[in-house]
Amino acid sequence: MDSALKIAVAVRSGARSAADVLAESLAVVTTEDDRIHAFNTVATEQAYEAAAAVDSAVAQGRDPGILAGVPVALKDNMCTNGLETTCSSRILDGWKPPYDATSVERLREAGAIIVGKTNMDEFAMGSSTENSAFGATRNPLDTERVPGGSSGGSAAAVAAGMVPLSFGSDTGGSIRQPAALCGTVGFKPTYGAISRYGLIAFASSLDQIGPFATTVEDAAAAFVAIAGHDPRDSTSIPAAVPDVMAALGRGAQGLRVGVISELMGQAIEGFEPEVLAQTRAAADALADAGATVEEVSIPSTIYGLSAYYLIAPAEASSNLARYDGVRYGNRVTEGLTTADMMIATRTAGFGPEVKRRIMLGTYALSAGYYDAFYGKAQRVRTLILNDFNAAYERFDVLLSPTSPCVAFPFGAKADPLAMYLNDVCTIPSNLAGHPAISVPFGTGAHDLPVGVQLLGPILGEAAIFQAAAVLETAAPKGSA
Ligand code: GLN
Repeated sequence: MDSALKIAVAVRSGARSAADVLAESLAVVTTEDDRIHAFNTVATEQAYEAAAAVDSAVAQGRDPGILAGVPVALKDNMCTNGLETTCSSRILDGWKPPYDATSVERLREAGAIIVGKTNMDEFAMGSSTENSAFGATRNPLDTERVPGGSSGGSAAAVAAGMVPLSFGSDTGGSIRQPAALCGTVGFKPTYGAISRYGLIAFASSLDQIGPFATTVEDAAAAFVAIAGHDPRDSTSIPAAVPDVMAALGRGAQGLRVGVISELMGQAIEGFEPEVLAQTRAAADALADAGATVEEVSIPSTIYGLSAYYLIAPAEASSNLARYDGVRYGNRVTEGLTTADMMIATRTAGFGPEVKRRIMLGTYALSAGYYDAFYGKAQRVRTLILNDFNAAYERFDVLLSPTSPCVAFPFGAKADPLAMYLNDVCTIPSNLAGHPAISVPFGTGAHDLPVGVQLLGPILGEAAIFQAAAVLETAAPKGSA
């Protein structure tokens, strides 16, 4: 499909109808999705109604919005009024929220057409989408391999050309890692830049919504469309949205880029050599375009993974307590006491990874261990934030691989720790609350795409997009 912005220009000018664009998108979904399984739900009827509304706005000379007629896919943890929102969990199977998330509301106002809801690791816990209760999503570039996760369905939907734009959530890398593995752009904004109202919570202090796109410009436009203060989210930032669109054409002249040495295979093992080589090539490309590029050490990044796997499960164990068969979702009953009903409901409703996280988090928060585990992890979090802030006194953006490896075969990371290690590059910016983007840059093993990551300070989105646009232009041919 055309890029999102190209579609919006055509629809706004009346050159193309939103209904026609939607038909093109749905035709690809029909031919591809049996094989890929990017979608949990396709909302054909509602999508055609929304497209008709956009087309009539155009016909009547009303502004149809900056994403007019752009088909979008939403991760299945973003609440959509009257449309199933399951988190790919049996416990929410069939649940239809009575309201839209703020991001969804803003997408509708911008004229985007919601095609459907995408598959994910259950409650966003995972890095391969194999943890979905409804079956895995396949990587469109090699269907024997995972698309990454947890927003694997959203990444695959864009990579397969079903939609030009999709949205996911990123708690520890769940937008950037699948974007890297599927060869798309994936962006996690500053914590608080996009409202979390109506995003089903995994770890509330880390969760952020963001876009997947085929171009850096589309990702920037998608960010602008849904970012901005929302009084319904107490952690939403009451500040102006960074002007990322203006940053796109600035080039790299004078930009100060730091390459994170710990994430270049120097302190942490397990990086594929091709991934490191492409990241070095990306650093060279920025230097060639006029940036100053230096290595920088962020010593505490090596503790990010350990801190995350205490903080995120701790928050999840609290957030997921609401699924008790009483207030939300599905219930197992038949002659049970209330306590037995809750146990039976949660036993049947949650998959093994979700149960593992709940147990881990409950343990980390328990009276005798709270300070040794959760408290210590919080102190490490502060250390990481301080290390990053020190680096941003000298650099505008930092660079690293997005994922240590390219897309891997199904079942290859059955050991939970092996799976967790996928997020070693992405987790630190979630802990710091900082923005980061993954941009496709060449290929690695098996000719599969490599993603490189650009990181910035709080509301440092403009420099990130400035550098991302340069890398997009400089990327070796064959980059997805
Ligand atoms: N893969 C990480 C996890 O399993 C991150 C998930 C996410 O960002 N939602 O927790």
